[in-house]
Amino acid sequence: MKPPVFEYHAPASVDEAIALLTRYGGEGKILAGGQSLMPLLNFRLSRPAAIVDLNGIASLAYVREDDGMIRFGAMTRQRTIEFSDVVKRRLPLLTEATLLVGHLPIRTRGTIGGSIAHADPSAEYPAVLTALDGTVVVRGPRGERTLSPTELFQTYLTTSLGPEDILVEVRLPVMAPGAGFAFEEFSRRHGDFAIVGVAAVLVGDGHRCTTARLATAGAGPTPVRLRSAEEILERDGLGEAAIDAAAARAAELVEPDGDIHASAAYRRNLTRVLTGRALRRALTKMGRR
Ligand SMILES: Cc1cc2nc3c(=O)[nH]c(=O)nc-3n(C[C@H](O)[C@H](O)[C@H](O)COP(=O)(O)OP(=O)(O)OC[C@H]3O[C@@H](n4cnc5c(N)ncnc54)[C@H](O)[C@@H]3O)c2cc1C
Repeated sequence: MKPPVFEYHAPASVDEAIALLTRYGGEGKILAGGQSLMPLLNFRLSRPAAIVDLNGIASLAYVREDDGMIRFGAMTRQRTIEFSDVVKRRLPLLTEATLLVGHLPIRTRGTIGGSIAHADPSAEYPAVLTALDGTVVVRGPRGERTLSPTELFQTYLTTSLGPEDILVEVRLPVMAPGAGFAFEEFSRRHGDFAIVGVAAVLVGDGHRCTTARLATAGAGPTPVRLRSAEEILERDGLGEAAIDAAAARAAELVEPDGDIHASAAYRRNLTRVLTGRALRRALTKMGRR
């Protein structure tokens, strides 16, 4: 399979990239790691007039700890995140989720910005962004703005980014020291996109659960934050009954669609099962089980 003909540009700065995208007025496409875009081009599902390649913009690749926040340049490779010490220490949920993204060659090229901008509902990074209350910084012709996950993700493979916008940074608040966490997912083969995935973070104080965070991948058109399931744990604690109740509530909160991989009912049931598993494993990490 070969891609359709396109103009190719390799800008050296974000401003230059925005000017190019503006010049092509919606007919330009950003290239990051190419792990999702190149198959779309090769299958001719996307036919942009121009490719604007961000790989030459060195200032877009970094991992920085800054005032309770880890900031990732959009072009930071998933492989860099997998091996980052600061991510292992401050955002272990992200390290765990990264190991579930495709295979090694995909993570070597794939970027955090590309994964989030692509907005595949089954992808791990959008779920982590949602679970951790992260934000993304977007630059476009009218300046810079910061978006929450609900402001960003609209539906399958669709975000609120305009054709001239570039996602430049991902910001994730550091996890509380001693927090329990787990990313549980089910896929047919290792490395495949998840049929459903659940990200969980628990912070405890004695027998209380002070903070619970739960978000799904693959259980609807966008990642779903399971707030009222979290509330059960924050109110009732982390015993077996509360975990089962939170998992049951999680299944009620999602609105999955059926597709060739799984029916809607199956995805709903998986949400319940994986929420229970993720919470129990998160508890183990807190030394509670
Ligand atoms: C076999 C295979 C298995 C995979 N399995 C998984 C998996 O299990 N989990 C998972 O999460 N992913 C998986 N992926 C996808 C992979 O993680 C991709 O790297 C990711 O989805 C896209 O990132 P990228 O950097 O390659 O972006 P690209 O493919 O270059 O771009 C993807 C889209 O995002 C846009 N874009 C890219 N960067 C930006 C930006 N900074 N601002 C605005 N728009 C931008 C592009 O224009 C394009 O529309 C898999 C891919 C393959 C080929």
